[in-house]
Amino acid sequence: MNAPVKAPALDVAAIREQFPILKREVNGKPLVYLDSAASAQKPRAVIDAVSGVYENSYANVHRGLHTLANEATAAFEGAREKIAAFIGAERPEQIVLTRGTTEAINLVAYSFGSTLKPGDEIVVSQMEHHSNIVPWLLLKERAGIAVKWAPVTDAGELDYAALEALIGPRTKLFAITHMSNVLGTATDAKRITAMAHAKGAAVLIDGSQSAVHMAVDVSEIGCDFFALTGHKLYGPTGAGALYAAGDWLDRLPPFLGGGEMIADVFEDRVTFADVPHKFEAGTPSIADVIGLGAAIDWMTGLDRTAVIEHEKSLLDRATQGLTAMDGIRIIGTAQDKGAIVSFAAEWAHAHDIAQILDRYGVAVRAGHHCAQPLMRRYGVNSTARASFAVYNTADEVDDFLNALNKAREFLT
Ligand SMILES: *Cc1c(COP(=O)(O)O)cnc(C)c1O
Repeated sequence: MNAPVKAPALDVAAIREQFPILKREVNGKPLVYLDSAASAQKPRAVIDAVSGVYENSYANVHRGLHTLANEATAAFEGAREKIAAFIGAERPEQIVLTRGTTEAINLVAYSFGSTLKPGDEIVVSQMEHHSNIVPWLLLKERAGIAVKWAPVTDAGELDYAALEALIGPRTKLFAITHMSNVLGTATDAKRITAMAHAKGAAVLIDGSQSAVHMAVDVSEIGCDFFALTGHKLYGPTGAGALYAAGDWLDRLPPFLGGGEMIADVFEDRVTFADVPHKFEAGTPSIADVIGLGAAIDWMTGLDRTAVIEHEKSLLDRATQGLTAMDGIRIIGTAQDKGAIVSFAAEWAHAHDIAQILDRYGVAVRAGHHCAQPLMRRYGVNSTARASFAVYNTADEVDDFLNALNKAREFLT
């Protein structure tokens, strides 16, 4: 019998070479960057794409009648096509380019929200990021809707039975994360969507983390809306996307008003541009969107399965090390997790841990991670969080664990 053909392991050293920032030192130690869930570092291909726009092909996009405007427009619209293909959208016109997830969710809260009546209900989960909570609380103030909360279990899983039990005749939308930025939990977006659709409710999936750590296919999920943010996907800040299924964008009123989103403007009325431009008022973050296109090209050039396996091995190594350590509580032990691990220490505040780790060049995040309802759910004010990306190594996980041991010696 032939041995099964194994894909070559990821060449992480070669990948690291492409990230200039990973060569620097912090406090005299090599940088160990374990904060990619807050924002990922950028490969040379993305940095060059952004500076290349400004050096060679920069002009405002759309309606241009000169060469630079046409080049910038082609690259900008090319990025839209890349985003659409990356997440499995049927058409690029289903992609609205935004500044990130926050703007994408606010767009839905405003435009979809304007179709709701007082007493209508939105369902969120306890593990949402503030950007998938606050827009709904603002809508509650504005329109008198109710926000219902689906619980998470002690292990950090979404409680699907409780979620289903929340659906009522007034439920209009589920707004739920695909991967928690605190717990790492991956949710079953397809199951969530089927549950909501069975009762006539729409579904918005927050894909800020899932788009990085898993292969996403919105057509297969069947969700109505999907939000992502480019800076976590190795792209620049200031560029992200909202996917809207079917003809949602045609049916919804616009979000922001201004240039680019109009067909005709009169003194007393306005007609709108075709979708998706109807939702893209004003000059967009042109170079950043093009940079996001380059980031997606860069990611799709990697063996995605090998990337996921690599990240999983880092997560497992970190989880084992933390589990073996005294006085550490891992928050979020779901079966299906992305490469994110949050923990609380009996012996120190998360902020002190992060500051001491920084002395060893290790960058982790500490705080509420924009998820205060979730912190309350687990009875903590803050956690420390290590998050892993394609460029991290097993040695870096060990550096982190060693630095954490030193922090404990120092603090206890
Ligand atoms: C980062 C993040 C957001 C917000 O993204 P922005 O880039 O700040 O708009 C929302 N949800 C999750 C799960 C995130 O990780």
